[in-house]
Amino acid sequence: MVKAIVGANWGDEGKGKITDTLASEADIVIRFQGGANAGHTIKNEYGKFALHTCPSGVFNQNVTNIIGNGVALNIPVLMKEIDDIVGKGVPKPNLLISDRAQIVMPYHVKFDEYEEERLSGKAFGSTKSGIAPFYSDKYAKIGIQVQELFDDDYLKEKLENICALKNTMLVHLYKKEPLNPEELYKTCVEYREVIKPYVADTASFVDKALKEGKTVLLEGQLGTMKDPDHGIYPMVTSSSTLAAYGAIGAGLPPYEIKQIIAVSKAYSSAVGAGAFVSEILDPDKAEELRKRGGDGGEYGATTGRPRRVGWYDVVASRYGCRLQGATDVAFTVLDVLGYLDEIPVCVSYEIDGEITDDFPTSRLLEKAKPVIEKLPGWKCDIRGIRKYEELPQNCRKYIEFIEEKLGFPITMVSNGPAREDIIYRESNIKRN
Ligand code: GDP
Repeated sequence: MVKAIVGANWGDEGKGKITDTLASEADIVIRFQGGANAGHTIKNEYGKFALHTCPSGVFNQNVTNIIGNGVALNIPVLMKEIDDIVGKGVPKPNLLISDRAQIVMPYHVKFDEYEEERLSGKAFGSTKSGIAPFYSDKYAKIGIQVQELFDDDYLKEKLENICALKNTMLVHLYKKEPLNPEELYKTCVEYREVIKPYVADTASFVDKALKEGKTVLLEGQLGTMKDPDHGIYPMVTSSSTLAAYGAIGAGLPPYEIKQIIAVSKAYSSAVGAGAFVSEILDPDKAEELRKRGGDGGEYGATTGRPRRVGWYDVVASRYGCRLQGATDVAFTVLDVLGYLDEIPVCVSYEIDGEITDDFPTSRLLEKAKPVIEKLPGWKCDIRGIRKYEELPQNCRKYIEFIEEKLGFPITMVSNGPAREDIIYRESNIKRN
């Protein structure tokens, strides 16, 4: 059976921690989209890790970790990550790389930088990991698939063509040095030598595993609001962040996905530009939550830049869960809110004087103002609690208020960054 763990919001909801927790009962963990532009932070018995490319099952020796065909594979980043985790005493992970995954080339990273430079004040706030240029090339059919690295003549010819196209932009638009196909070829040869031991027909591997009754986790990156179709376009990422895409990016049938865990954080955070309706505008209040947030503050796992923070946004999260097709909601980072006397929640939007519960398209979203309801805080530390009934009453009220507004069952509550900081609960809301 296949379970997907995906973000209901803007990313950074704590998916890595939930995947790491569930990986103990899984046989395979698959990354199906995105690249090294975002990171999962995981805290376990080996230490604290920021994973950008490795699936979150790498700490578990019984798990086969797969980089699926939908991923933007940055080979040097992957190798560095493996070295880092092995260096901290984690046994060498079982890792397979899809022969259909495509490779982030150094020029993708450069193009990302040059384009942000060109846009200057109007930049997207990209992490400059080469993700948008990478996916543009994939769909323009000039990307490099892993299997193509192993066919010399084909590769050389392809690189010539890539250089002809790229150099026009490099020289004339960005006024930079042109690419040299010989050098790119050398880079490709280096890449193929390091990844050779890991390359496999991962879709066949997963097919066999499913026939043997194995459990597979699909690990999403970012969240619904960053999906290129259903998110806050154009302030989105360049690959689909939805569970449905998990079937494509991992190479398995959609009907195999039996459980979809939408991870939703007990307050909001977002990185980069774009509309963020429930944002806390008072800088002191925002800084207080940012400092207390996550585990060591709300600062990007990849870039270290401060995240924008906001109150829980029911409108965006309900939409986020719906588009993900949530069978379960994992409600995370709840412990952080213990300092507040009262907790604002954004329950609807006001757009041009009208109240709405529906998440609008981006141009309308820019005009949306939050309609806030305040709930009483619980004013204590809830870390260490393992049973739902033992949570303070106001804390349960907060969870149940949000669950009712969402209309999706909150079956997991995360009250700390560690694996064991998780409370499972029965919900009265029927699963999809
Ligand atoms: P991801 O990309 O969705 O995996 O999210 P990130 O790793 O970027 O951000 C989640 C942050 O919150 C990390 O620092 C986690 O260690 C931390 N975290 C996850 N769950 C909890 C929780 O329940 N409580 C607290 N305090 N921190 C958490």
